[in-house]
Amino acid sequence: MIKPVKYYSTNLRAAEVGFREALLKGIAPDGGLYMPKEIPVIPAELIRKFSELEYYEIAYQVTRHFLQGQISDVELLAITKDAYNYEVPLEHVYERKYVMRLDQGPTASFKDFAARMMGRLMQYYLDKEKRELLILTATSGDTGSAIANAFYGLDNIECVVLFPEKEVTDRQRKQMTTLGKNVQIVGLDAKFDDCQYLVKRAFADPDLDFLHLSSANSINIGRILPQIVYYFYAYARLSNGAEDKAIFSVPSGNFGDMMGGMIAWKMGLPVEKFVIACNENDEFPDFVHTGHYNKIEPSKNCLSSAMNVGHPSNLSRFVALYGGVMDEKGHINKAPDMEKIRQEVFTVSISDSETKKMIARAYEEHKLLLEPHGSVGWYGLKKYLTENPGQNTPEQLCVSLETAHPAKFPQQIQEILKIDPALPPSLVGLEEKEESYDHLKNEYDFFKDYLIRNYS
Ligand SMILES: *Cc1c(COP(=O)(O)O)cnc(C)c1O
Repeated sequence: MIKPVKYYSTNLRAAEVGFREALLKGIAPDGGLYMPKEIPVIPAELIRKFSELEYYEIAYQVTRHFLQGQISDVELLAITKDAYNYEVPLEHVYERKYVMRLDQGPTASFKDFAARMMGRLMQYYLDKEKRELLILTATSGDTGSAIANAFYGLDNIECVVLFPEKEVTDRQRKQMTTLGKNVQIVGLDAKFDDCQYLVKRAFADPDLDFLHLSSANSINIGRILPQIVYYFYAYARLSNGAEDKAIFSVPSGNFGDMMGGMIAWKMGLPVEKFVIACNENDEFPDFVHTGHYNKIEPSKNCLSSAMNVGHPSNLSRFVALYGGVMDEKGHINKAPDMEKIRQEVFTVSISDSETKKMIARAYEEHKLLLEPHGSVGWYGLKKYLTENPGQNTPEQLCVSLETAHPAKFPQQIQEILKIDPALPPSLVGLEEKEESYDHLKNEYDFFKDYLIRNYS
């Protein structure tokens, strides 16, 4: 009999729960984030066998370790097969250095990986229990479109996405507003933080309990588990034997992506080092170097806009992985093992001018086409290799993550490289599609009334 993995709250003041509850609740009642109590280990022989499997089969094998005894194998395989119906290219750059392009999903951002699987996992439980859920999400651009696309057409789930009308690009907006069906988009003449505030307030409002609200942002453990998978996939495709260890570089903002990788490592993936590359929002590199954590308020506006995070929510998960306790406000109640963190992780802040320079250099030297987020990751990897000549060898396997398609940032690519990146199939025809969305005043009472009127 398999014992299902339990999830505890990083604040340590809430009861442990099973996966279903962690997924549907999103946040623990004490304000903490759910983390697996034990991290299951995948035997090395099984990891080696992944080399013969399709992406969705690896997704099944990896997530199964967390979901055994909670979701049947047959149904889990059906979920991963339905979620991962697109390519995951590993682009060779030079020597054994690769860029993993996580940009072939429906919204051309890596957030599709997590959102598509999370949506299907939620639907699995709702179907079984014959009940409904209303997903509320605030977006600064990419999360909203990934969530909207991932939940589009799913039964028993309604989805409302709030976005700041003046802060998203036309393309980002159209990726959300051209869907329809169970996806309702709401524009506010406000900032992202205001949208976030309305959503948080709705979650805390007992008058709205009857709507069964749930959240889809990266605090949900259901978004972390799918992000463990592509690290195993890259390693399975590229490793040349049992002794091989990989260096991964992850452009990071809210640290959901990096958490997936760190959990993969703890599950037994052979990793040499994790490079965590941030933009000018350098609270994390600063924390690792000094041991003191100071969030950045307000966050700085950098080119890699999806990484403009001054206080990453998933940091409390990272701290938990190293034996510490950090609450949602960023207070450290128990220090993590800083020595171990420094051994395992290399972290660096990349400026906007470095980001631009690397877009030019990567293209010049290797015909490698990067957008700003991927450029931060690639630059981080280069810095690590330069500072650690012992590992800067032709044999060392390195994988840097590209988290969005360059065509999502046409102005910057045109300005720096004087080329117009071709649209991925998922974005073709978007311009001509008809848009529809509601506009609301930036006041909680209007939003509350809107939800009651449309979803009671
Ligand atoms: C969200 C996002 C990131 C940052 O990922 P985190 O999991 O928040 O660290 C990086 N690049 C792109 C394109 C994104 O959309």
